[in-house]
Amino acid sequence: RKDRERENVVIFPFMAQGHIIPFLALALHIERRKGYSITFLNTPLNIAKLRSSLPLGSSSIRLLEIPFSSSDHGLPPNSENTDVLPYCHVIRLIEASTTLRPSFEKILRDLIGQNHGRKPLCVVADIFFGWTATVAKELGIFHAVFSGCSGFGLACYYSLWLNLPHRKVDSDEFSLPDFEEASTIHVSQLPLNIFEADGEDPWSKFQKGNLSAWVDSNGVLFNTIRDFDHLGLLYFRRKLNRPVWPIGPVLLPSESRASVGKQNGQTSELCREWLNSKPLNSVLFVSFGSMNTISASQMMQLAMALEKSGKTFIWVVRPPIGFDINSEFRAQEWLPEGFEESVSSRGLLVHNWAPQVEILSHEAVSAFLTHCGWNSVLEALSNGVPLLGWPMAAEQFYNSVLLEKGIGVCVEVARGKKCEVRYEDLAGKIELVMSDSAKGKEMRRKACEVKEMIKSAMKDENGLKGSSSKALDDFFSAAMVARQNTLEGCNS
Ligand code: UDP
Repeated sequence: RKDRERENVVIFPFMAQGHIIPFLALALHIERRKGYSITFLNTPLNIAKLRSSLPLGSSSIRLLEIPFSSSDHGLPPNSENTDVLPYCHVIRLIEASTTLRPSFEKILRDLIGQNHGRKPLCVVADIFFGWTATVAKELGIFHAVFSGCSGFGLACYYSLWLNLPHRKVDSDEFSLPDFEEASTIHVSQLPLNIFEADGEDPWSKFQKGNLSAWVDSNGVLFNTIRDFDHLGLLYFRRKLNRPVWPIGPVLLPSESRASVGKQNGQTSELCREWLNSKPLNSVLFVSFGSMNTISASQMMQLAMALEKSGKTFIWVVRPPIGFDINSEFRAQEWLPEGFEESVSSRGLLVHNWAPQVEILSHEAVSAFLTHCGWNSVLEALSNGVPLLGWPMAAEQFYNSVLLEKGIGVCVEVARGKKCEVRYEDLAGKIELVMSDSAKGKEMRRKACEVKEMIKSAMKDENGLKGSSSKALDDFFSAAMVARQNTLEGCNS
């Protein structure tokens, strides 16, 4: 179909790889449905990077620049993505993003003008871009927030920002006001020091404004599965009094992963060959996502745990916290003496970046030691791989709670970047999950059940639709109905 006959979906993620990647996956997912054109908005440097990520032939996705200059906001020049910023500057980029509002509004008006008055069908924007809902509402365009986080993880965050008095609590453990029974949170699981600043820290101030604008949105799309994340989804349904659409897992196809990550053909080949030589269900995969690293002493304990466990493993080794990024990283300097030789027959150390999805989908892999980033979780569960959780930041702590207590596919082995890890404990938990213990068997059974659950949620064939496919249908139907109502309102 010609572009002007297709319904246009405007997609707008925050400028961070962890946000852009799920939005790109969503754009490609929508594109496969046919009948839609996608306008993918971002700042110039991110758009330039994305041009190389889109698979050839993806003609229905139009990349569009929204003007932005980081130096106007006290940030270093060309700081258009959190991946070039130290963590303490991330909040400044988030605050600066609110100044995109007039340009965003202009872009929407231009799109309407170019399309002879026909409005985009909907705007799908980031969880940090509450203000886009207000702009869309003013222009009469349907709007949804898209969350790349789990429903439960985001609900804990949301509840925390909205409800807590933002001052120090008496005890180190407390329940989130909206989840009395379901979740006890420890202060070590909180994002930043929000208690210390009494609600006046920049994150709390930003979130208060951001989340209150969500009432202008028509609902929330979640990259999750209804069947195992219902508590978080229910929370938003009630709190916002809006529909939520669990449409996941929406994951990047492998041909697009190569350019958004740091994939390297040689490493992929090496991992594949290595895994091919290992027995079924025998390998532990260890990786902590794209941003997090552990401390030097934790690295040492992890190595000793892997040595003691006797298991076969792939470990994505990254420089420890505090490592000087200007110097060369030599892994052996941070590992026990002789470690690489002693595990050479059963351990593969990959430096910095591994082809995670390929690894997790290999039948030799039996378990995944992960920081519980939601993309990693979805990738593991889609392949029926049980987890050892080591949450380190953000909503990963709540994901770990959901996975362990709610779904039964995870054992938490450590918590936080500063926690003390003892190698004997870690080795014991690796043994528990990977061995034929009752717990290990039960977790593997559960993980396979979840894999099937995910498959059936995504089903879309011969008119038979799973819950996630149906949720995306429902979302588009709601947008169409809203458009129809607006047109009728104009005509009457
Ligand atoms: N990833 C990868 N290779 C690595 C590390 C990470 O392919 O060595 C990918 C991983 O497959 C996932 C993403 O990077 O898609 C990490 O996202 P996640 O939400 O798990 O964690 P984050 O990096 O945002 O903390």
